[in-house]
Amino acid sequence: MAKVLIIGAGGVGNVVAQKCTQVPEVFSEILIASRTQAKCDAIANSLANASLITAQVDADKVTEIVALINDFQPEIVINVALPYQDLSIMDACLVTGVHYLDTANYEPPDEAKFEYKWQWDYHERYQQAGITAILGCGFDPGVTGVFTAYALKHHFDEIHYLDIVDCNAGSHGQPFATNFNPEINIREITQKGRYYENGTWVEVDPFSVHRLIDYPEIGAKDSYLLYHEELESLVKHIPTIKRARFWMTFSESYLTHLRVLENVGLTSIEPIDYQGQQIVPLQFLKAVLPIPASLGENYEGKTSICCHIQGINNGKPKRYYIYNNCDHKEAYQEVGAQAVAYTTGVPAMLGAMLVVTKEWQRKGVFNVEQLNPDPFLAKLGTYGLPWHEVINNSEEFVD
Ligand code: NDP
Repeated sequence: MAKVLIIGAGGVGNVVAQKCTQVPEVFSEILIASRTQAKCDAIANSLANASLITAQVDADKVTEIVALINDFQPEIVINVALPYQDLSIMDACLVTGVHYLDTANYEPPDEAKFEYKWQWDYHERYQQAGITAILGCGFDPGVTGVFTAYALKHHFDEIHYLDIVDCNAGSHGQPFATNFNPEINIREITQKGRYYENGTWVEVDPFSVHRLIDYPEIGAKDSYLLYHEELESLVKHIPTIKRARFWMTFSESYLTHLRVLENVGLTSIEPIDYQGQQIVPLQFLKAVLPIPASLGENYEGKTSICCHIQGINNGKPKRYYIYNNCDHKEAYQEVGAQAVAYTTGVPAMLGAMLVVTKEWQRKGVFNVEQLNPDPFLAKLGTYGLPWHEVINNSEEFVD
């Protein structure tokens, strides 16, 4: 039995909190803390579960997090605030000797750039402190890394080609909205596309490479090559990979809205002067867009996230894919959240569970593909994300 501190009370925080309350035999007490305590209180009130309590914290301030940890004494902190808070929360966990888990890698607020270096630099300090940090334990990154590790362990001697494909075939009825924090999401997708091939990174203009990809139970959808953070850790930890790419579906309408917003400067992170005060256009845009957590009620359709893998097994070429489909409506009925928040929150809860039950407890900083995929995948379906595998039966990605 363990106490868990969840930091962040947005769409994902809500799912993590609810999922933790569903497993009282592991998480005996749950504290959800965020910048705006009212959002934590709303989650707690919707559940009326005595094991879930709330607090206020500014997670940019290490001293505030340390004080909260010292007061509550959790075994692990699940960070589902924003990537900007990753390092301050990791620092607080180091000071207090508490395990750490997040779902997105660090990004400096004033530069739209994400990479693992900043967090990998904590490895020795976490080792010396005897504590675990798990990086990127949502769905992508997260389950995609576990899927790849599972494929390597059970299906391949060597993985050569990896294509991670992410489809949201759902419809929320809004003209334009993002499925998780708009600021973080738009920073990510407006960057140059990037993929790994034969030891180097190849850059392409945003949305310039696309193809029709067939998604199980959904059909063919136009999918765009993006850079996504798990590519960096997967090619490092699985060095036989010759090519790794990430694809995501976008509708024509979504791309048109995005293009207009970019063209008029509303996706910029450069502060501008507005009536005597400095504002960041993208932060203003976030304030007028629908709150992702509010999309769930009318969301219909499914997400589908899949790893297509090719390589060698017993000296012969092999093709394999492994995927999960998640229904927006079912997620909403269970936890009042859309499927993107659900597919992020369930793996975060499960990763934390494996740390406190010692199956994923190791000294240092780890990406999920470095850990044993079996206990994770054995439980993923039980907690709401069933997965399926298909062997030597796909013509996708033979190029
Ligand atoms: P939201 O914007 O809905 O929620 C973020 C929460 O963090 C809010 O409660 C916010 O508080 C809080 N927060 C922000 N700054 C601070 C701070 N300084 N101190 C304390 N709390 C703070 O985001 P989402 O729930 O959509 O996303 C959460 C995380 O999940 C993000 O890092 C995102 O990148 C990641 N993610 C990962 C995915 C994956 O598959 N790996 C997929 C989707 C998301 P306030 O309400 O006051 O603003």
